[in-house]
Amino acid sequence: MKECNFNFQNTYSTLGQEFYTHLHPAPVPMPEMVVLNEALAEFLDLDFSGITSQQKAALFSGNSLPEGAEPLSQAYAGHQFGHLAMLGDGRAHLLGEHVTRAKKYDIQLKGSGRTPYSRSGDGKAALGPMLREYIISEAMHSLGIPTTRSLAVVSSGEQVFRESPLPGAILTRVAASHIRVGTFQYAAIQKDINLLQRLLDFTIKRHEPQLNNTENKALALLETVAERQADLIVHWMRVGFIHGVMNTDNMTLSGETIDYGPCAFMDAYHPDTVFSSIDQMGRYAYGNQPKIAQWNIARLAEALLPLIDTNPDKSVKLAEKIVLNFMNIYETKWLDMMRAKLGLSGWHKDDEKLISDLLNWMDKNQADYTNTFRDLGMAVFSEKNYYKNKEFKSWKVRWIARQQKNKTNNEAVLRLMKNTNPAVIPRNHNVEKVLKLSEEGNFKYLFKLLEILKDPYKEAPHLSEYQGLPEPDERVYQTFCGT
Ligand code: AMP
Ligand code: MG
Repeated sequence: MKECNFNFQNTYSTLGQEFYTHLHPAPVPMPEMVVLNEALAEFLDLDFSGITSQQKAALFSGNSLPEGAEPLSQAYAGHQFGHLAMLGDGRAHLLGEHVTRAKKYDIQLKGSGRTPYSRSGDGKAALGPMLREYIISEAMHSLGIPTTRSLAVVSSGEQVFRESPLPGAILTRVAASHIRVGTFQYAAIQKDINLLQRLLDFTIKRHEPQLNNTENKALALLETVAERQADLIVHWMRVGFIHGVMNTDNMTLSGETIDYGPCAFMDAYHPDTVFSSIDQMGRYAYGNQPKIAQWNIARLAEALLPLIDTNPDKSVKLAEKIVLNFMNIYETKWLDMMRAKLGLSGWHKDDEKLISDLLNWMDKNQADYTNTFRDLGMAVFSEKNYYKNKEFKSWKVRWIARQQKNKTNNEAVLRLMKNTNPAVIPRNHNVEKVLKLSEEGNFKYLFKLLEILKDPYKEAPHLSEYQGLPEPDERVYQTFCGT
């Protein structure tokens, strides 16, 4: 399908066959388009206007391959809930690296059939979870958060069997790359320093060419990835996003959010919030995410040790410094982000206390995380009871007094708050409703939700339907991976 403008390179295979297996996606009986991301297609210089819907469905299901694609599944390892396992793409095929004028992007099918890394899995995906990834990843992008993107979802025309039979689907994922912390762990386990070196060189070439002239490339990469992950987690904390499965195979070197499984956005603020049905210990709870990111960076550091220095003690010391510094970097960035949420410019010694007092008050009063910051930004507190309590009123006096110390003008402060605090997020009860209707073949509400989430910082009357909290019978306490 030359006419779609795919411009593939397949450089991942230059890493050597230890890192992948060449194989074709499994054919599916009756693929049908569910959603195509036209804006993303345009951004990628792709053009599907010259082919029929059927041809598109064949393309995005893997039934027909675009010219230049050399599909492969990647090998990687990963700590899953703390335990190291050999993994790999159990249900994904990388078609190739699509080269645009600006950048190179991995184009990958997910849910596209069994691979040598499938273990006991069927290699398939259900429509609900693939649409969940589509909705949330595109929402994250519109919120200005680094993420893999979703180009298309097709239904496959076959059923996949989980607790019950479900409609099958395939997602087309677009990523800066699919190199994960787990890819480095995989290379380190092989005990062949050449493999590790090859992966390091490949990663630097792909993501960090500026590090080419650094004296210690492995250390420089570790430092860069740590900083980028700190940025990413600060973004997640800013919007109340809970990833749900922060295993090391689900952390990219590019700093993009990846693998939307049982992820969700928090409604009422509570740091222990967990949605994932498989996270019974709360390892990946909202408030634990920074610590887990640091833990994952420590695993990346371990994998890189042999490349940092030939003297193991020296290597450990150098890596440790970066791992330990992660929390300092994170906390500084987090404070800056919270200041922006509260419209505080400059720095004041009591800022941290002002922020934590608000969060504690929110926790005690089950205040909605998104709406509270939005209310603060618009200075409308009327109808909610908890804004009338004494604790909030005295906090507000302190907050206004602190704002008066701002060096920037009022207008700039309001703009900052509006651009930091979303007006709308994909609330779990809305997402679940849309997924249920989609499974029944009604996609109208999916398109409506996708439209709403495209401009999340701009207040508008038609958003109100999506800004409210779930009614008691709509509350979603658990989300499922659906793998
Ligand atoms: P995840 O939790 O989605 O990041 O997946 C963890 C691992 O399980 C990865 O190696 C996936 O490729 C694999 N996996 C997930 N679902 C399936 C499935 N249905 N069939 C085969 N492998 C799967
Ligand atoms: Mg994964």
